[in-house]
Amino acid sequence: MRIVIIGAGQAAASMAARLRVRGHDGPLTVIGSEPVAPYQRPPLSKAYLLGDMGLDRLLLRNEEWWAEQEIELRLNESVNAIDKAAKLVTTDHGSLPYDALALTTGASPKRLPDAMGGALSGVHVIRSLSDVDALAPQMQAGRRMVVIGGGYIGLEAAAVGRKLGLHVTVVEAAPRILGRVAAPQTADMMRELHASHGVQILEASGIERIVGPDRVEAVALQGGRNLPADLVITGIGVLPNVSLAKEAGLHIDNGIATDDQGRSSDAAIWAAGDCASFPWQGERIRLESVGGAIDMGELVADNMLGAGRIYEPKPWFWSDQFDAKLQIAGLGTGYDHIVSRKGDGTHGGSVWYFRMGRLIAVDALNDARAYMIGKRLIEAGKSPQPDEIANAANLKVLL
Ligand code: NAP
Repeated sequence: MRIVIIGAGQAAASMAARLRVRGHDGPLTVIGSEPVAPYQRPPLSKAYLLGDMGLDRLLLRNEEWWAEQEIELRLNESVNAIDKAAKLVTTDHGSLPYDALALTTGASPKRLPDAMGGALSGVHVIRSLSDVDALAPQMQAGRRMVVIGGGYIGLEAAAVGRKLGLHVTVVEAAPRILGRVAAPQTADMMRELHASHGVQILEASGIERIVGPDRVEAVALQGGRNLPADLVITGIGVLPNVSLAKEAGLHIDNGIATDDQGRSSDAAIWAAGDCASFPWQGERIRLESVGGAIDMGELVADNMLGAGRIYEPKPWFWSDQFDAKLQIAGLGTGYDHIVSRKGDGTHGGSVWYFRMGRLIAVDALNDARAYMIGKRLIEAGKSPQPDEIANAANLKVLL
């Protein structure tokens, strides 16, 4: 069986490794448009941006590993088309037949339109190694940095900016930061953490445009306020990379739509990671997380080899900002009740999400014990009553 994987990120690397572990000894090719072998993205907005981590530690596998595993890694190569009937992919270097194909094409950052100054020099996004290699030299002490978007990318970049001595303002259009991914109680903890480190956070502040002749000079907010800026980072979310799948005629629904085993609407084509949506608990969801890329990548590998495994995601996330660690287990979307617990130190505590009386997620800031216990409860399908969590002197009794 000839297996081709399009996209060379975390999902592809996990899938390829698993295929070999599970005994696939036939041809295996991974095609990626970036010039570097698959690397970890989470450190890009944290340790790598700060200069605390080099490329060697970012790479998921070294060159020898790909060779030893006899995985053909084709970098700097873009796939232009998939011919489903002929089972053939066409790249800018030629064409390649497959028996099974996986799409792990990831997601791309949303950008502000050119008319809003999105293409001015000094406006950056954080998604790829080349994005961060372009941004890092600009982050010099004393400069004024405006971050547009108060999601994880924006807040992590803001923390790095302050650590490097920049003046940092975060502008969030929604009424509060972390609106898509966290409860108000978690946003409150994060806002307080950032304020204590001198980040200015402006919420419910839409931007009019980024101002400058060719290089950014300021960010104009709706309502007339002007924020002088030497550089701007936009962290306003991502869109799944589906154009190749769409042109091939695959079903698209909030990403490349797969069944509960990771198979697309074509029997020989699979998808995993940020680009893929899948059915879960009566909904169709897409997980934007490295944990999801690993789990779904491995699942697709197993299922390509006939395992017939159903995808049961176990979402977990983390975010390092300043010296604080936010850890998240489960998915809080659709919650109807929240319980907060104070942590031991400053800037710490946990936020527990319930839906119809069932525990579905926990956010823990500097509270590893709350995270571990919440994760174990959620994964075991156990749900203490909200007041048990609120009142437990020691959370361990809940296990
Ligand atoms: P995100 O989580 O979608 O956050 C983007 C934020 O920007 C949202 O709060 C959004 O508000 C806001 N926004 C959108 N348009 C705006 C505008 N014109 N002006 C001001 N604010 C605006 O996405 P992200 O932070 O860019 O992150 C990208 C991806 O990387 C996500 O999948 C994220 O989960 C992932 N990531 C994860 C981690 C981690 O787990 N530690 C770290 C970094 C990145 P609305 O929701 O109202 O649009």
